[in-house]
Amino acid sequence: MILRWTTTRLSAALAAALPAALALAACGDNASTSQVNFAINGDRFEAETPEAKPAEPTPEHSAAPEEPTGPGHVALNLLIGDVDPATDPNFARIPDKYIGGTRVWGHKDAVEAFVRMAEGAAANGYKLTVVSAFRSFDDQKQIWEDKWTGKTLVEKSKLSNTIPDPDARAKKILEYSSMPGTSRHHWGTDFDLNGLSNAYFSTRDGKRVYDWLTEHAAEYGFCQVYTAKGEERPTGYEEEKWHWSYVPVASWYLKQYPVDVGYERLTGFEGSDAAKDIDVIKNYVQGINPACK
Ligand SMILES: [Zn+2]
Repeated sequence: MILRWTTTRLSAALAAALPAALALAACGDNASTSQVNFAINGDRFEAETPEAKPAEPTPEHSAAPEEPTGPGHVALNLLIGDVDPATDPNFARIPDKYIGGTRVWGHKDAVEAFVRMAEGAAANGYKLTVVSAFRSFDDQKQIWEDKWTGKTLVEKSKLSNTIPDPDARAKKILEYSSMPGTSRHHWGTDFDLNGLSNAYFSTRDGKRVYDWLTEHAAEYGFCQVYTAKGEERPTGYEEEKWHWSYVPVASWYLKQYPVDVGYERLTGFEGSDAAKDIDVIKNYVQGINPACK
């Protein structure tokens, strides 16, 4: 037991020594109509899932829990989308009236908060729909690899032809799509609302909804994580006016992410070698709007 705690503490210390950066992976559901595929990644991560791992060595006569308001330790499989939301108690189905795509699951707390927000929006004459929500590692792998191999065109090009250099090709895809294992959509805390292009949010209807969200989403716990890049957010995905995150849960996942996820986990897909070269954890997972952390 002492050994196990020591290992745990060592891991935590090592993780803390890493650059304080997490990053998530962004959207990418505009890529294709890929079917939801909740196949679990077999044994790839299972063995690593911390079983009854104590977050801290608890004294025998311990007092109150240390972090009563948070989810505590977030299991590795939840961080990288290795989960079936239909059977996992952390997830809930989004009510049909708000569904606008094929992704229907979210973290239960995020779904509850979203429904409150959608009801608030409706009371003011705005309709919110969820175009994308939870996506598994395998869902993201399909989106990523379709772009990597040229099956899905990116800006009308087959990247496999136009960008042979692996790091450069990965960076192109990373403008709007995340690598498998690094997407905030794995967490179920993030939803793409109403459209999947910034141009839509410049139209009359799109702008009205966006203006309402920027003014009121925070009242319900939601935040636009991929704001325009600049001084405040120098790295990461391009601006995504449609991608909103439920911060009370997502901030815990973001804190836990670099503790448990290293580049040895980001494997099993085309182009994975670029992950470390580009430092996607620091530059993308952690490259979010600081107000959403
Ligand atoms: Zn998104």
